[in-house]
Amino acid sequence: MKIIDIDLVSFKVKSNMSATKWGYSEFGPETEKVQSFTRIKTDDGLEGYSEQGFPFYFYTPSQDEIEGLVKPLLLGEDPLDRERLWQLMSRHNRFPEGLVGNIDCALWDLAGKSAGMSVSRMLGRARGAIKAYASTAPNLGDPDDYAAHAVKCKEAGYTAYKVHANIFWDPRTRQPAPGRPAFPKEDVKICAAVREAVGNDMVLMLDPWGVYNLEESIWVGKEIEQLGYYFLEHPMHERLVEPYRKLCAELTIPVCGPELAPGGPFVRAEWALQHATDIGRTDVNFGGITGVKKTVDMYESLGMKCEIHVGGSGNAQILAATVEDTCEYYERGLLTLDMVHTLTAPYLKEPVDPMDEHGYVSLPNGPGLGVELDWDYISSHSVDD
Ligand SMILES: [Mg+2]
Repeated sequence: MKIIDIDLVSFKVKSNMSATKWGYSEFGPETEKVQSFTRIKTDDGLEGYSEQGFPFYFYTPSQDEIEGLVKPLLLGEDPLDRERLWQLMSRHNRFPEGLVGNIDCALWDLAGKSAGMSVSRMLGRARGAIKAYASTAPNLGDPDDYAAHAVKCKEAGYTAYKVHANIFWDPRTRQPAPGRPAFPKEDVKICAAVREAVGNDMVLMLDPWGVYNLEESIWVGKEIEQLGYYFLEHPMHERLVEPYRKLCAELTIPVCGPELAPGGPFVRAEWALQHATDIGRTDVNFGGITGVKKTVDMYESLGMKCEIHVGGSGNAQILAATVEDTCEYYERGLLTLDMVHTLTAPYLKEPVDPMDEHGYVSLPNGPGLGVELDWDYISSHSVDD
């Protein structure tokens, strides 16, 4: 089998989530956006797609990247040589890490379709369902707003809930406050209100998305430990490895990360060896399914857990091929106050992450990534119309 063409499938969708100019996403009025995924075609008629579903977090290649980087390297290659192609892409000095991930996911989708089985079956399936946690959008309002939302999520079946509190947002003025200072006292008030509202039998986590300094991280970590929180995720800028090492030494509550540090399995191995994290973190933006599997296996061999960042079809396949002792949860979000479930992308026939009343997400088992695309929607919303 040979790769004969690679292109982008682009179409319009409506979404109320947008990236802010300083780099994190927020909810607002619904607007029309362009969604794209990579399509890899072979000489025997098979196609593989990199589609990951909502949200707009996953890396999307540009047409220039497809033409200038991907096609020169991959056209004519055997798409089943995933490890060899991953090594070529990840050693290439101009291949962004997210682009490696995007192409690798499409290659796995193709391989699964070729074999007639899901990616997780090809990796070796470990389970068909996984515990979900509700992951809030940031800046939802007062402690009471978060508390009421957490109760709604608990009633919907979730056994775990992760707070994104005040991120680049001043809760006193209710205005954007990008960068520093952060608002750790107000964040802890939100955490306390959530714990009070849901009782002690719900697992709770806090993700400040890197807005604290070391002193604030230590203070918040000790406060939420008192509240029985499970972990403190990504509290500081993730270029700061030595402060993370100090934080882990200072706190009893586990620190989870790095979420956004570039370098995939290689950098995450260094963080683990530095004892700069207690629970690992990654997603398919950091080297695709091949890169995430290497990362997860590295953490497992060190006796560490790895919490997979965000949902989507590629991450779901990794979770289905990994035991709960290593990867415990599926992240479901981001959820606003009026949402307890994630939105299903309009171009998918089925949601990627259906959850039952006990808080378990069914992991996909169809061929490849297990995504059922609605080609009628895609063709009728083409950007070329
Ligand atoms: Mg996070």
